[in-house]
Amino acid sequence: MPIPHLPLPNMLTGREPDPMAREHALEIAPRIWWVGHHFDDDPFQCHSYLIENGDQSILLDPGSVLTFESTLKKVEEVVPLSAIRYFICHHQDPDITGILPHLDARITRDDAMVLSHWRANALIKHLGLKNLPLICVEQQDWQLDLGAGRTLQFIFTPYLHFSGAFCTFDPTTGTLFSSDLFGGISDNTPLYARDEQDFEAIQFFHEHYMPSQEILRHGISNLETLPIRLIAPQHGSLIPGHLIDYIFNRLKNLDCGLFLLTRTNSNYQRLSNLNRMLREMMRTLMVQRDFSSVANRILELAQPLIPVVGLEFYALTDTDETLHLAPENSFRGQITPAPVECRVFLGMDRHHWSLDHSGPYLITPYPGTALTPTGEPIEQGLILPLFSPQNDLIQAVVLFRLSSPLHIDDEMANILTQLSIPLGVAVEREIILHMMELEKKRSYERSIRDPLTGLFTRYYMHEALHRLSRIHDRDPQASIAILAYDIDHFKSINDNFGHAMGDVTLRVVAHILMDSIRGVDIPVRLGGEEFLVFLIGTPEKTTREVAERIRLRVQHQQFDPPMQERTVTISCGIAFRKAEEPIETAIERADLALYQAKSSGRNKVVVCSGHP
Ligand code: GH3
Ligand code: MG
Ligand code: MG
Repeated sequence: MPIPHLPLPNMLTGREPDPMAREHALEIAPRIWWVGHHFDDDPFQCHSYLIENGDQSILLDPGSVLTFESTLKKVEEVVPLSAIRYFICHHQDPDITGILPHLDARITRDDAMVLSHWRANALIKHLGLKNLPLICVEQQDWQLDLGAGRTLQFIFTPYLHFSGAFCTFDPTTGTLFSSDLFGGISDNTPLYARDEQDFEAIQFFHEHYMPSQEILRHGISNLETLPIRLIAPQHGSLIPGHLIDYIFNRLKNLDCGLFLLTRTNSNYQRLSNLNRMLREMMRTLMVQRDFSSVANRILELAQPLIPVVGLEFYALTDTDETLHLAPENSFRGQITPAPVECRVFLGMDRHHWSLDHSGPYLITPYPGTALTPTGEPIEQGLILPLFSPQNDLIQAVVLFRLSSPLHIDDEMANILTQLSIPLGVAVEREIILHMMELEKKRSYERSIRDPLTGLFTRYYMHEALHRLSRIHDRDPQASIAILAYDIDHFKSINDNFGHAMGDVTLRVVAHILMDSIRGVDIPVRLGGEEFLVFLIGTPEKTTREVAERIRLRVQHQQFDPPMQERTVTISCGIAFRKAEEPIETAIERADLALYQAKSSGRNKVVVCSGHP
């Protein structure tokens, strides 16, 4: 077959052709021709390739009704259409197979065929071709014998981007026809990828078209052993030999198919940035244990997308309290009521939220007093509800502090929905941690509180008193007075009214003790019906008054039936700790005074005068 006159630059060098050159077939390797079609203003260029091989020529990925006229013109610059015996379709998309019915009607030779994978053929058959049989590459043992010692190899690259996807390798020239794999999307697609920067186009394309990193790695591993000198994809730029290893390596580490977000979006750059941000957030969540680092990192990542200067969270705990996580408390969390703007949403179900809000967010005047980093008051907030995966109720809201009004379009709404997923995970984890902390504190409290009376236990008393003694040693004002109480004839209450009424009496007396002293003072149930009260920093005179007041309140306490006729009394001994003295010694003195009160008739207060 004669080679026609070619008024074109020699493309075998991989040099970028003049844009006008794309009006013609371009030889990209010996007797391998680019015969694709270039749309203006379309980042999604479609390439077809011709392997010129006499009357056994091959057209790869013929094209669509839109592109084929131009492709045919280029093909016929090299060979007549009738020289083509094989039409290889790497998959069944319309930009590859759309023209097949027209070709089918025009084909004159009876040995022409369409070669594809059976998964693609199962769909191509619906084009109803009459003259072109569909042959499966796997039935050809994944190769095509072109005669004269030349063979094409078919390499299976499943799910990239279609279950039956494959590539074609021409060992004679080292050209890999890679179909969608290694494709690119770009506003300005050079015919040849020039340098590492052109990887951007490939990255977007793969993030969106390829299902996952694992699948992409598998496909690339099927190709890596081939002696490839040039990659000719169906979209984007051709990849010359010196960039191939680099691109293989980059792609092997690319996350694909993770966050195909919007239904309408065509801003690939922005989507790609968002993908990276969400990935980064997930990574942050995994490696950062502390919520403040997570929150700050998320803020940093969100800032290129949203005019936000701060984040805070209101989260509902298991005990129906609200945990506020904010920069002001270093995101350690504080139980505090949420502002009403946020409170109304906590615990709300998704249905009710959707009734009032068409989007996943709410713009509101900022309910707080925070300032921007430049000292301006925050005017506007954005509330983003975080739904619990368990019950689909709003378990927390994120309040974004906005530095300027935010315009929210569909895309931004989608971004916010996506953001709420990692944020929800982070907040949920934080609530659990916080509840565990709280539980620890409460069980500690339980161990230091006597369950019957709620007074402190002997265990706690020792701990607290040693601390207070040290303070007293440094500061005489922080004096410690000890009131030792014992209920008079308590045994007879148990005997006459039963043990349960004995317990009631203990609780009533304990309540009077607690109610008669200040928060800094320490009421202790020592055991049985014996109590100690430590008054901190209280002068001697006041101490006597307090002790006396307690005694009188008990005496005048009216009990419920059957004890309505019974007067309960208590005796009290008082001692004061001297500086540097072991607290136990002072307690012994108070006990001695109590003994004196008992032995001198009960229902009285005795101040210790002597030393034990
Ligand atoms: P006194 O005026 O000399 O203090 O006489 P008393 O009867 O109050 O003293 P005694 O030490 O003889 O009796 C204390 C009783 O308190 C004996 C014990 O059974 C009872 N008791 C100790 N702990 C409890 C308790 O938790 N609940 C009840 N109901 N009784 C208790
Ligand atoms: Mg007693
Ligand atoms: Mg006793």
